[in-house]
Amino acid sequence: MVEARQQSLALESTDDLQAQAIQRTEYWTRRAREIFEISARRLPVPDVRFDLRGRAAGQAVFARRSKQIHVRINAALLASHPQEMLDDTVPHEVAHVVIFKLYGRRAKPHGKEWKALMRAFGVDPKPCHTLPAEPTRQLRRFCYECACDDPVELTSIRHKRAQQGTDYVCRRCGEKLRFVADPGQ
Ligand SMILES: [Zn+2]
Ligand SMILES: [Zn+2]
Repeated sequence: MVEARQQSLALESTDDLQAQAIQRTEYWTRRAREIFEISARRLPVPDVRFDLRGRAAGQAVFARRSKQIHVRINAALLASHPQEMLDDTVPHEVAHVVIFKLYGRRAKPHGKEWKALMRAFGVDPKPCHTLPAEPTRQLRRFCYECACDDPVELTSIRHKRAQQGTDYVCRRCGEKLRFVADPGQ
C-alpha cells in the first residue's frame, strides 16, 4: 500500500514538473516577443516533449520539411535536477527556437544573437549544461567552444592538459578550443 502511494506521489510530482516546464516555455516565449516586439503569430509557443535521454539536457528541434518546431526536455534530468532544468535549460532551448525563427540558419546555435537573448532573459549564456550525465558513472566533461555551432566537450584528462598549456584544435573548423564552463562541483 505504502509503495503504491509513494509511486503515485512520484508520478504526480513528475507531472507537476513537466507542467512547470511547459509554463516556463510559455513565459520565455512571451518575454522574447516583448524583447523583439514580435507577434504570437510570428513566434508561437513551441510544443514541449519529454522524450530526450542520455547526456543532453534539452534540444530544440527544427524539422526541415514540416517546419515544425519543438523543444525536447530530458525527463530524467528534469526529475533529478528540477531547479537547473527549469531555470537554465528551458530558457536555453526557448532562446534557440527564437533565434532560429528570427534568423534561420544564418545565426549559429550558440552565437552572438543567442547569447544576447540569453543576457536579455537574465540567464547565463552557457552552451553546455553543468548537470551530471545519466548514468552518473560517466566521466566528467568540460565545455569548450570553437567556431563550430556546437560546443566540444573534453574529458577531464584533456581539460587538465589544456589548462596546463596544451592547445587543442577543433578537427572540423581548425580553431583553438576555448574553455567556457566548469561543469559543476
Ligand atoms: Zn544549446
Ligand atoms: Zn570547431
